Amino acid sequence: AETVLITQQSHEEFRKALGANKTAAPGQQKLVVVSVSPQSRASLAARLQLSPTDTARKLTSFFKRLGVHLVFDTAFSRNFSLLESQREFVRRFRGQADSAQALPVLASACPGWICYAEKTHGSFIIPHISTARSPQQVMGALVKDFLAQQQHLTPDQIYHVTVMPCYDKKLEASRPDFFNQEYQTRDVDCVLTTGEVFKLLEEEGVSLSELEPAPLDSPPGGVSAEEPTSHRGGGSGGYLEHVFRHAAQELFGIHVAEVTYRPLRNKDFQEVTLEQEGRVLLRFAAAYGLRNIQSLVQKLKRGRCPYHYVEVMACPAGCLNGGGQLKAPDTPGRELLQQVERLYGAVRTEAPEDAPGVRELYGRWLQGEASERAGRLLHTRYHAVEKTSSGLSIRW
Ligand code: SF4
Repeated sequence: AETVLITQQSHEEFRKALGANKTAAPGQQKLVVVSVSPQSRASLAARLQLSPTDTARKLTSFFKRLGVHLVFDTAFSRNFSLLESQREFVRRFRGQADSAQALPVLASACPGWICYAEKTHGSFIIPHISTARSPQQVMGALVKDFLAQQQHLTPDQIYHVTVMPCYDKKLEASRPDFFNQEYQTRDVDCVLTTGEVFKLLEEEGVSLSELEPAPLDSPPGGVSAEEPTSHRGGGSGGYLEHVFRHAAQELFGIHVAEVTYRPLRNKDFQEVTLEQEGRVLLRFAAAYGLRNIQSLVQKLKRGRCPYHYVEVMACPAGCLNGGGQLKAPDTPGRELLQQVERLYGAVRTEAPEDAPGVRELYGRWLQGEASERAGRLLHTRYHAVEKTSSGLSIRW
């Protein structure tokens, strides 16, 4: 099933959909939207030796030449993923006596990790996973719900494509939780990896460096920006850092200016603590790669996990090193990754609560921060896959 999915969600499928859209009868054409992840942008920038801003503008120009109407940046939808993760953590920390509010909270943005957790540790681990949707799936809701309303379209009249650093994002987009039964459409119709976009450029005979840049589109409900923006806290989205700083302020009234990471077992397992008079108030960790995830799960099973929150990512070194990112034939892997990290960090960062348009969208689109609508559109559920005598069964 996963192979079928990867063939269906490919750059060939994308090209076919664009072709069909161009020849569709008037009134039958779809609005085509592409949302690009900041990790993919950094990978393309490193490979093509461009600045992140040039890459964003030239990619916009490339997609529009192909017939795409709007090109967005998933850094915008990440504002919501970060804010919801912050609030959820504080709520669960305050209610930690209640087992339904289990600590540690484990980050939810990595579908590689979610798949592993559901299949391998099912009902034991699921209560720990944050319910906040990933930036890809928040963008899905923004495009198929908010943008559709703004444009007076139904969700199935929009074809939404994302560009992501890994293949696992295709699996995430295909989860039944992100399928709109009423309109028989997904929040994200097609996911392309960074490598597939590069292939598309090659097959179209386009040199991104030589393309005229195009202005960036305003994100749905956001304001237009001259340059792309991002968040602090590393190439996997900055979950640990944002949740940590927010929790320190909200729960203990402590302002954290800089977050200091302490490497533990290896560079992919790091710890951050908040201490006061020798007492540890908060203990967070980042656990990247399968080896570190397995060790974390073992700690949890033995009841010896000392963390309140863990940023879990399946790829060693995180999303900038995802399996869908570009390789460079002449550049050693480590050196290329350093270039990608440098370019990823070279854009202006902003706090999610300060991003223009976010506060307004909580009002205009979601009917308030803790509303039923915000819960439905910005959060999700997980499903234990259990082995039975007749095979695997999923608990919905
Ligand atoms: Fe994808 Fe890897 Fe990032 Fe997980 S850590 S979201 S698998 S790139």
